[in-house]
Amino acid sequence: MEESAFNMKSESEYRHDIIEVCRRIYQKGYVASNDGNVTVRMSEDEILATPTGMSKGDISSDQLIKVDMDGKVIAGFHQPSSELKLHIRAYEKRTDVRSVVHAHPPISTGFAVAGIALEQMAIPEVITTLGRIPLAPYGTPSTEELAHTIDEYICSCNAILLANHGALTVGPDVFSAYYTMERVEHSAHIIWVAKSLGGERPLSKESISKLAEIRKKMMSGNNARCATCPLLQAEMDKEHNRADEQELIDLIARVTADVIRETGGMRVLKNGVMEVKMD
Ligand SMILES: [Zn+2]
Repeated sequence: MEESAFNMKSESEYRHDIIEVCRRIYQKGYVASNDGNVTVRMSEDEILATPTGMSKGDISSDQLIKVDMDGKVIAGFHQPSSELKLHIRAYEKRTDVRSVVHAHPPISTGFAVAGIALEQMAIPEVITTLGRIPLAPYGTPSTEELAHTIDEYICSCNAILLANHGALTVGPDVFSAYYTMERVEHSAHIIWVAKSLGGERPLSKESISKLAEIRKKMMSGNNARCATCPLLQAEMDKEHNRADEQELIDLIARVTADVIRETGGMRVLKNGVMEVKMD
């Protein structure tokens, strides 16, 4: 992916942007109390971050802290969040990422707590913009283990559900990361409603392929790595395998029917079980 230059804005502009996003995630109910954290990577070794123990509803720009890529505070009077490790991991793995937003939006987090990824190939906008939203395994809060749970997904995904925890989104700036969080929660809401109405209907393999093509065109140049999202490809391969599986099931059914016919048929027992007559 193309990397945007560092220091596109002044530090005070970055501070202002983070506070604006904090207000939005709080007003949207994506966090409660002191939950969630927002960071911007301003330079190679400078991250502007929300500190621990403060509500995103009333934090002010002078309360933000500056940390280095080891998580050490280099400016500010407050302590970093234990979840900062998760943000630093995203920056380490993705040199194109300039901002990380972590929150606990209730519907997406409900899916994460239920152990269900938002991988349903059912919403065109999600396929063309995000590919899919995987579920990273659970990691104990405030440990290094939590940071490494995203390793498998962060290189190809801008949004990840964190099992039994919440959601994490990344982007080239803080508003992109925030809007991705909005899309994740909105998608989770739609899938939840669809499930309550009898279940979502996945798009056909052909429709997914067309959307993947659109995605490729949309992403080419500035987001090439995501354009060939390995997870999206895996989903299409799964569709192929499902088709192969169905062919196998049909073949077994045909052979079984032939065998039954050749061996003299079958009869239905009282309990409804089919008994094959072998002689
Ligand atoms: Zn959290």
